[in-house]
Amino acid sequence: MKFNSKVIHGGQMHDPSTGAVMPPIYQTSTYAQSSPGKHKGYEYSRAANPTRTALENAFAVLENGTHAFAFASGLAAVDCVLRVLKPGDEVIAGDDLYGGSYRMFTKLFQQYGLRFSYVDMNDPKNVVNAITDKTRLIWIETPTNPLMKIADIEEITQQVKLVSNSILVAVDNTFATPYLQRPLDLGVDIVMHSATKYLGGHSDLVMGALMVKNEALAKELHFIQFAAGAIAGPMDAFLALRGVKTLHVRMERHCKNGKAVAEYLVKHPKVKEVYYPGLENHPNHEIAKKQMDDFGGMVSFKLKDESKEATFTFLENTKVFTLAESLGGVESLVNHPVTMTHASIPEEERLKIGITDSLIRLSVGIEDIDDLIEDLEQALDATT
Ligand SMILES: *Cc1c(COP(=O)(O)O)cnc(C)c1O
Repeated sequence: MKFNSKVIHGGQMHDPSTGAVMPPIYQTSTYAQSSPGKHKGYEYSRAANPTRTALENAFAVLENGTHAFAFASGLAAVDCVLRVLKPGDEVIAGDDLYGGSYRMFTKLFQQYGLRFSYVDMNDPKNVVNAITDKTRLIWIETPTNPLMKIADIEEITQQVKLVSNSILVAVDNTFATPYLQRPLDLGVDIVMHSATKYLGGHSDLVMGALMVKNEALAKELHFIQFAAGAIAGPMDAFLALRGVKTLHVRMERHCKNGKAVAEYLVKHPKVKEVYYPGLENHPNHEIAKKQMDDFGGMVSFKLKDESKEATFTFLENTKVFTLAESLGGVESLVNHPVTMTHASIPEEERLKIGITDSLIRLSVGIEDIDDLIEDLEQALDATT
């Protein structure tokens, strides 16, 4: 099937007992057994739940994987990947990372003996040069949050696997979604999502996902999910499955509106810089074009007036764009990374890579583009 059909039908079947087209919300913790150990494939909902199974099957198909796992949050999914590692193991991550991932690496896992190094993944050589005989995992985010940097997934993966086949490569595919890029097809081992964002798509749940195409790795991840317990509940699984079925039509509009907003901002006399991989002057536009089918709905920018006052005036004056954390829902959101999503990154670290007080991040929704542009226009006007 083509992607646009897989989004709706991938891994799905009608409920065998009633023919229900959508899987029921199996709001149950446990399952009757006819004799000890004799059951219908479900024993206890931490291990598996039919609504979650339906969602996980859909998730696996979307990323061209064989297995998927749905978690209580995106960070619970990141946590599951890190638990594959042992004390002393090293992780190489990008230097522009979702704040919560960075916080988990530095504040939670470092104390258990995992070592993290951060490199600019714009250049695959930086990744290869950071590899040691202890390296066990490469953590790639592309496009990055919030600077929209692009890493060449295929090139990095090939070069890493040349050094050692036992190094796992994982991609946080939250920003692109499988509509735009499918990392498992490019050779990576694990795809991670905050399904809270585009996969769910309606700002009504918090959820994470992992997708893989290797049986042994799937077994290991499922064991950790089961043993650590951070599963997605049946109600959220139902909502995410409903959300994901419109991923393709939502993404098509997100991309169209994102591009229009980026092009509008580039031309605006009050705007200093726009970060959007679809712009021809984006430093990695060519790589973005190669590995993504379009450029998504996330746009960051800085005003020429880099004062906190001007930035805050803009943020306080948008009306269609809601000032809020998160992204990827149908509604447009605006975010101030320094005080909101990326507050956990030390000032020195974020300034080094360009996350300044003047950086504004937009999650461009699927409203009418005229209303979005008009809203940006009046908020920019307010900054004088
Ligand atoms: C939101 C986000 C996460 C964390 O996911 P939660 O669902 O909030 O736990 C991880 N990576 C990226 C890129 C995100 O945007």
